[in-house]
Amino acid sequence: MRILLMGPPGAGKGTQAVVLAERLGVPHISTGDIFRANVAGGTPLGLEAKRYMDAGEYVPDSVTNDMVRDRLGHDDAANGFLLDGYPRTLAQVDELDQMLDALGSSLDRVVELTADLDEVVARLLNRAVEQGRADDTEEIIRRRLAVYAEQTAPLTAVYSERGILAQVDGMGAVKDVTARILDELGI
Ligand code: AMP
Repeated sequence: MRILLMGPPGAGKGTQAVVLAERLGVPHISTGDIFRANVAGGTPLGLEAKRYMDAGEYVPDSVTNDMVRDRLGHDDAANGFLLDGYPRTLAQVDELDQMLDALGSSLDRVVELTADLDEVVARLLNRAVEQGRADDTEEIIRRRLAVYAEQTAPLTAVYSERGILAQVDGMGAVKDVTARILDELGI
């Protein structure tokens, strides 16, 4: 299965992605995780990405697209994957279409986790305390939510038109949300 999991920051996307990928037996490909690993490793890619991440902005496509193309070309992604956090812009949707086309495949399903805005801010502030993420201050959180609304929310219309979008309520206990997603995927 080739699945994209999307949703605003704080909707529980990362948590659900780990559980789902394990359950489906496919690699979890998170652009945020790849960027964070590069930041931690002090690589040139990490240094470039950090400026944007710390400001709550998206990393430029020139960096992000090549990174995903490379990752999707690995053997473990040949029979399926769970994409988490990519694509995030309409231009990235086109790029991903081309990458998958070149591999002779396409996305099977897109799951969007929906969430209440106040709940999301509360969750992210909590995560900031627990994990100490530099992009989790209230100001940056609000910026990230605005960027999501502006640049990523429009993607749902594209996937809805293709008939592959499922919108799932991301609020509630982790296991309840997982059950809702699996139900939508017919698993
Ligand atoms: P995430 O962990 O998915 O919330 O991603 C953390 C940060 O990494 C985002 O706020 C962006 O700065 C950057 N990022 C992750 N995925 C992308 C993407 N597809 N395009 C641009 N920037 C991204």
